[in-house]
Amino acid sequence: MLKDTYKDKGKRNRLVEELITMGIQSTSVLKAIQHVPRHFFFPKDFADKAYENIAFPIDKKQTISQPYTVAKQTELLDIQTGEKVLEIGTGSGYQAAVLKVMGVHLHTIETIPTLHQKAKILFSKLGLTINAVLGDGSLGLPELAPFDKIIITAGAPELKENLLKQLKIGGKIVAPVGSLDVQKMILIHRIGDNEYTETDHGNFNFVPLTGFNGWTIT
Ligand code: SAM
Repeated sequence: MLKDTYKDKGKRNRLVEELITMGIQSTSVLKAIQHVPRHFFFPKDFADKAYENIAFPIDKKQTISQPYTVAKQTELLDIQTGEKVLEIGTGSGYQAAVLKVMGVHLHTIETIPTLHQKAKILFSKLGLTINAVLGDGSLGLPELAPFDKIIITAGAPELKENLLKQLKIGGKIVAPVGSLDVQKMILIHRIGDNEYTETDHGNFNFVPLTGFNGWTIT
């Protein structure tokens, strides 16, 4: 049974206050974080840690991202209601839920079958209409492109043109890009057919993006 108590809501209020002190300003992002019960996406035995501002291990050596990171990536994308968004790296499904409650049409792709299946079941239990796809997100989702916004929630070695071309002109992609140890949060804005601007938003540490355009993990 999924229960969201007043105590949980109180913990979320405090988390939101912490995110504000860390520089998150977008009201719509803060509202979404306030709204989504992160403990639903957390390993059951550790649900008491769900409102700490930390990343946490989930199944299959993967992680649920830190709330600050979720807030930061979402804020950078400047999400507008009704946009078509692709998330690469469903993981626990928490970031997807945050995006969904902001009123987007969301497609999310995950490469690990058990994580994909678990998230899909949870989305359905929570009444979140999210298209959860199993596959190699390093290739994007060309059959459903173009997207207004793309978010990668795993560390990528680089961003290939195949992915950038899946953005609408005017669209944005946010992704941690760099080595296996540390990545820069890069925001790319597609401003023309072959024209892009790029800004850097500091260092982060993600689990690796695998697949054709990702890392080979042995
Ligand atoms: N967004 C997630 C959340 O809210 O819990 C956190 C994602 S976790 C940091 C990164 C996820 O990316 C993992 O679940 C991993 O399996 C997935 N991943 C890695 N490479 C991938 C690929 N090529 N395609 C799709 N998912 C991938």
